[in-house]
Amino acid sequence: MSTLEIRDLHVSVEDKEILRGVDLTVSAGETHALMGPNGSGKSTLAYAIAGHPKYTITSGTVTLDGEDVLALTVDERARAGLFLAMQYPVEVPGVSVSNFLRSAVTAVRGEAPKLRVFTKELKAGMDALAIDAAFATRNLNEGFSGGEKKRHEILQLELLKPKIAILDETDSGLDVDALRVVSEGVNRFGAGGDTGVLLITHYTRILRYVKPDFVHVFSAGRIVEEGGPELADKLEAEGYEHYTKANA
Ligand code: ADP
Ligand code: MG
Ligand code: MG
Repeated sequence: MSTLEIRDLHVSVEDKEILRGVDLTVSAGETHALMGPNGSGKSTLAYAIAGHPKYTITSGTVTLDGEDVLALTVDERARAGLFLAMQYPVEVPGVSVSNFLRSAVTAVRGEAPKLRVFTKELKAGMDALAIDAAFATRNLNEGFSGGEKKRHEILQLELLKPKIAILDETDSGLDVDALRVVSEGVNRFGAGGDTGVLLITHYTRILRYVKPDFVHVFSAGRIVEEGGPELADKLEAEGYEHYTKANA
């Protein structure tokens, strides 16, 4: 069973300290919701774990099954089993969805899947997410609706089967149908599976469909409260105001 351990993580962007001592442990089979107001540093945490060069780790540790994640390149992190679905996926004209996914699968698994096998896998994944077959030939993220981008991220999850998946605002901009499909995808991976899920979100809405085992409230660069699913209900009722005041 895999475990991602974040200890006293401090991260700066352009010399400004954004993360101010984050402690968080996510294990396979668990779903964690990290919730907080805009600008509290949730995406910064995701990018720092993924290895984005703009984010400087000033102190603290991140390990995956004891291995020092921060010493790995971005590629090595993906191969080690870390997956990040970005809040704002990039458009890549000229690269089709199926080519992108086959390259990603090849990079993570260390060998190219046979085309016939991959095509089957891709079709099964797309069917599960109610994605139209024509989607596979489109250019990556080009002109994708919000819902298509997010379904595509979950499709990546299905194919890459990471040890730890970090989903940054995967619920933003989704209509109810898309939210349900995306949530079902998340549920297939969390809850007793081989993947640990860190679901980053600003809204409590997705938590009607995804039941997290743990909820962490993020404010001003650190976790300020932790609990079970009931904490999400409290956030839905009371919002974040009371945390942001306490941290101002
Ligand atoms: P959240 O995801 O919770 O909305 P972010 O991690 O995106 O928060 O941002 C946290 C803070 O860090 C904000 O004040 C934001 O302006 C700043 N920040 C994040 N990324 C950058 C960046 N690349 N350059 C400059 N400032 C940044
Ligand atoms: Mg500290
Ligand atoms: Mg964000």
